[in-house]
Amino acid sequence: MKKFADTPNAEKILNDNRLKKTAAGLRVLAILASCKNTAVTLPWLVKKTKGLNRATLYGVLRRLEMKKIIYKVFDVDGTPHYALYPADLSGRDPEVFLHFYCSQCRKVYRLPAPDFIAAPFPGEFKTARYMFLMNGICRSCNTI
Ligand SMILES: [Zn+2]
Repeated sequence: MKKFADTPNAEKILNDNRLKKTAAGLRVLAILASCKNTAVTLPWLVKKTKGLNRATLYGVLRRLEMKKIIYKVFDVDGTPHYALYPADLSGRDPEVFLHFYCSQCRKVYRLPAPDFIAAPFPGEFKTARYMFLMNGICRSCNTI
């Protein structure tokens, strides 16, 4: 199996969250970390983790999601895309996510969270997360 010695963070993340340091967990985290601000689909992850049992992959994703290490964003077709939580979200309450879905390459990009969120909601609604999805043509598709 390939080693992921170049991603010391994956090990620390698992340690910090009291998750077992499994090869599968380290591998999935390393892949998601390398995606930086792009959220990726399950079929893409299956392809990238070739040789990893699908049930194991699903289990790893479920555990990482439960521990709030990763999250899902749904594109306009309802397809989930997985991404690592951005580091700059820590301590931010509620969480603000801004994503851009490219209708050409079908990639989902995470963009810097806007600071315009101050919409007054009726008191009986408590917001935990703002999730925005913008749609259009991404930078790389737009320059072709
Ligand atoms: Zn694109």
